[in-house]
Amino acid sequence: MALRFGTAGVPHASPKSSSVSGVETIRKLGLGAMELAFVRGVRMGAKTAEKVRETAKKLDVTLTVHAPYYINLLSEEPDKRDASIRRILDAARVGAQAGAVSVTFHPGVYGNRTPAQAYQEVRTILEDLMAQLQEEGVTVDIRPETQGKPVQFGSLEEVLRLAAEIPGIKPCVDFAHLHARSGGGWNDPQAFHQVFDRMEDMLGSSSLKDVHLHISGIAYTEKGERHHLDLPESDFAYRDWIRVLVDREIEGVVVVESPNLEEDALLLQRLYQDALS
Ligand SMILES: [Zn+2]
Repeated sequence: MALRFGTAGVPHASPKSSSVSGVETIRKLGLGAMELAFVRGVRMGAKTAEKVRETAKKLDVTLTVHAPYYINLLSEEPDKRDASIRRILDAARVGAQAGAVSVTFHPGVYGNRTPAQAYQEVRTILEDLMAQLQEEGVTVDIRPETQGKPVQFGSLEEVLRLAAEIPGIKPCVDFAHLHARSGGGWNDPQAFHQVFDRMEDMLGSSSLKDVHLHISGIAYTEKGERHHLDLPESDFAYRDWIRVLVDREIEGVVVVESPNLEEDALLLQRLYQDALS
């Protein structure tokens, strides 16, 4: 399958909470991917990483990483900024050991900067970060994610522009976040096409064959994201969304972040396979 569906972290059905058990459960469920959730810190040791890599390879499960939530590249405090950079580097190093193809992260909040100032700062930091990883021979893709609140750095344009301007940076497009950030927009076939048009314009058609997408139902206010929901309980037009993925022949990874994790992942995968046939 050209597009792989998976869960954000270990599926609920997993008998153990370990990543290895999670990968085995993904295979049993018939899904194709799992995002290693390093969201509360990068704590996986080298031995475990090796075991995860072997298991995922044997079972043909694509792995990606979500870096710790506690990251703000735009912090006013140099210590916090440095710690944020370190967390992304650690997630990339350990993720690469575990065989992950990419690392997703939340860039930070604008604070009192204009979006233009914030962009330049994030760009400079990510250029240095990519140089560091290259020097170490860590070849995993780094993917800043589109964010669900207007106070957060991470509009679609910002994320795509970083990917266009910095080698090794690719986008993580979270459609639930786009939807919540805009107070209910980005929720019909035309809008979904527009996202992929923009991606194609800025990053070339090859980018549509190597996407990293996050999806879930989402509750939101005028201030953006409140919390995630299961897709059938949400207002997100996921049937239309799947149709567009099929029509555009999108390839890559879809990570489902609904509270029910694998249930929605299997739902989307089923709709996708039905639409293909
Ligand atoms: Zn995220």
